[in-house]
Amino acid sequence: MNQLLWLRSDLRVADNTALVAAMNAGPTIALYLITPAQWLGHNDAACKVDFWLRNLSALSARLAELNVPLLIRCVDHWQAVPALIADLCRQHGVEAVHINNEYGVNEQRRDDATAEALRQTGTTLRRHLDQLLFAPGSVKTLAGDCFKVFSQFRKVCYSRLSHSLPRCLPVPAPQAWMAIPSDPVPEIVQGFTPPSDALRSHWPAGEHAAYGRLASFAEQDLADYQQRRDFPAEPGTSQISAYLAAGVVSPRQCLHAALGANQGELDSGNPGAVTWINELLWREFFKHILVSYPRVSMGRAFRPETEALPWRHAPDELAAWQQGRTGFPMIDAAMRQLLATGWMHNRLRMVVAMFLSKNLLIDWRKGERWFMQHLIDGDLAANNGGWQWSASTGTDSVPYFRLFNPLSQSARFDPDGRFLRHWLPELAQLSNREVHDPGVMGGRLAAAYPQPIVDLAMSRERALSAFRHLGARL
Ligand code: FAD
Repeated sequence: MNQLLWLRSDLRVADNTALVAAMNAGPTIALYLITPAQWLGHNDAACKVDFWLRNLSALSARLAELNVPLLIRCVDHWQAVPALIADLCRQHGVEAVHINNEYGVNEQRRDDATAEALRQTGTTLRRHLDQLLFAPGSVKTLAGDCFKVFSQFRKVCYSRLSHSLPRCLPVPAPQAWMAIPSDPVPEIVQGFTPPSDALRSHWPAGEHAAYGRLASFAEQDLADYQQRRDFPAEPGTSQISAYLAAGVVSPRQCLHAALGANQGELDSGNPGAVTWINELLWREFFKHILVSYPRVSMGRAFRPETEALPWRHAPDELAAWQQGRTGFPMIDAAMRQLLATGWMHNRLRMVVAMFLSKNLLIDWRKGERWFMQHLIDGDLAANNGGWQWSASTGTDSVPYFRLFNPLSQSARFDPDGRFLRHWLPELAQLSNREVHDPGVMGGRLAAAYPQPIVDLAMSRERALSAFRHLGARL
């Protein structure tokens, strides 16, 4: 009997659990759903949607090599999905639908509703663990709860991995040809303006591009990751996040690439590899938090007491932050990097998030939304986790009194101003000292570069006082 592989954030044929399960079970047809209103509702960035389509096009060619036809259907909202899939199954005599699990609340409701619609037609929905190394809910404290502290979560993950490593699945052999034509992959989706060619060129599509990026990072840069990862002018991180978020590579492939470059050692050997594997586990941690505490994906703070913070309504300051016009070069360069490339260096994500939520005392949710609307790697769990960490509203967050100073962060992590000069050409002529803090030059730069929109000392005190007023619970 026919099988249906419903592709979502797993746009690859190598090491794809649902694909292998479907093809082992019988002749397989693949399906991808374009859901523009749902994506807009989730604030998915136009560059991310474009990245999905480009990867889908590359995937369609790889599926064709396996004789797996790819059907593409468009519905606005996920509410329409269960009936659509049930119909498709009837039409094609499908016995089981295979999916790799997704973990957002809306995603799980959609899948539960689909399972129910299929059940009524005698079709089974088979769910697979693929996006993560560990199923949410499977890494628990002795009391059976979800870990709220990363270091403890990490310890259990390491212990599990040291006993048994998840293996990567090979690309299945081609199946017999099926008389079902594949649908063409659209190049654009209404409501999402395609990004510039320059942005696209940062993120070539397809598994070969993704795996090539991973392999060259593991070979050339992983060893120095620990030393270089905080310096945004350096190519010190993998830039694999967009591929992981769209499932063009799997976390297992990432883990094995790191282990391969570290003589198979997980928690010893090269500190670069160990640190990088740790980052993969942060990705796991935030997804586990998302599942165990669904309130965080519903616009709520992990720590409910922080809902009482007196967030400021300051639309002009928010706009200056969004557009990179705050007068703080580190913030502005970072925000311009985001707009131009769809990606921002991790150190800068923390610095700009803290600046918005602490120095400007603007609700972290406004920053979270802006990031989601512009990130090519936008991922609900990691983005929410990163924002709540920075705003000190989350679990295992930075303590509220530890504010990053954007000027000293700039001098420390971009000492020769290379990153700043790249994104802020109007500051190119300044000395290495002035480039971090053009304010010290008085009004001389006034026309070319804005004055700082906030006083750092005053705003720091304002943030501390706001947190202190939350009372003894902090
Ligand atoms: P590397 O340093 O090479 O790390 C390898 C992989 O580990 C990353 O690709 C990512 O999948 C994972 N990872 C690394 N750091 C983290 C982290 N702190 N939390 C979760 N996973 C991590 N990451 C996203 O993938 N999507 C987001 O939407 C996102 N939003 C963020 C928002 C804020 C405010 C902050 C502080 C962090 C956010 N991150 C997000 C985490 C991190 O900044 C990015 O994963 C990282 O910058 C991606 O670059 P890279 O692939 O070169 O990372």
